[in-house]
Amino acid sequence: MTWLVPDSLWWDGRLRTGVALRDGRVVPLADVPPGEERLRLPGTVLPGLGDAHVHSALVDVPTLRAGGLAYVWDLGGVPGKVAALAARHPWVRYAGPFLTAPGGYPTDRAWAPAGSCRELRSATDAGDAVGEAHAAGATLIKVTAHAGGPLLPAATLRAVVAAAHAFGLPVVVHAEGPGTVEAAYESGADLLAHTPWTEELDDGLTRDCAGRMTWISTLDIHGWGTPTPARGTAIANLRRFLGYGGKLRYGTDLGNGPLPPAINPRELRALQEAGLTPQDVLAAMTEPGRPELSWLPAGLDLDPATFAESLATARVLGPEVRPRHIVGQ
Ligand SMILES: [Zn+2]
Repeated sequence: MTWLVPDSLWWDGRLRTGVALRDGRVVPLADVPPGEERLRLPGTVLPGLGDAHVHSALVDVPTLRAGGLAYVWDLGGVPGKVAALAARHPWVRYAGPFLTAPGGYPTDRAWAPAGSCRELRSATDAGDAVGEAHAAGATLIKVTAHAGGPLLPAATLRAVVAAAHAFGLPVVVHAEGPGTVEAAYESGADLLAHTPWTEELDDGLTRDCAGRMTWISTLDIHGWGTPTPARGTAIANLRRFLGYGGKLRYGTDLGNGPLPPAINPRELRALQEAGLTPQDVLAAMTEPGRPELSWLPAGLDLDPATFAESLATARVLGPEVRPRHIVGQ
């Protein structure tokens, strides 16, 4: 194994120089034993930057990797197809099918491929569906609560969460419309797939969510660069959620609308608008314990004014990147 010796390393939330990295271990450069191979890299190495909300049926996943995303979470797809994809690309973490009410969202949407939805008919059926997803390799469970169509009864939603938690799997809820964020929270679910955007959330509910939930951002799906009322509502909700200490993951819903198949600087700027510092954004894009690494050849730029564009130039430090700087010692 080769020691990576970048100009700087962003690790454990701070920028360090004069260090070497191997297998997740950081040591002072002087402690690398003589004779062990080291790879010098210009710029900054950092933990893999990822997108926690993509749909691999709607976007070419290897392209995302070329666009600088070191890992992705697939939040709803045909179980066999997503599992096969993840077998080829282990940086894809996936939820399996959309669990939903009979006739519920997104069974009625043209973009939802046949087999991507699993309709739940009872609390017992909910437990079976979670077991099927787990058996198919899912490490997340996705369930929908869309007020514009049939909704799962509270008992069924709770059964999804209980079954998922029994397997150690977090539950991600697509909550859309009045009452759905509260339903997700009351069920014990762990994450929202989107920052709530359909209405300003009640302050007490926002505080409750912040105490226990993680939200996935998806701010740029509103207008794709053109401000919309929904975008403003989402940013206002997110700002209050963060103010109460809520945890956030960067996610864009890639596959849904004209989003760049890459790290999205508009999403990054929207996060900054909601109050995240560049350091907060990096925390929201990285997952402790993941093996992937990202690389900024020009170095990490923490100036808030230029951070987003700069971070969007990140590359995945995978086998396809071979800077010719290997030195023997
Ligand atoms: Zn989605």
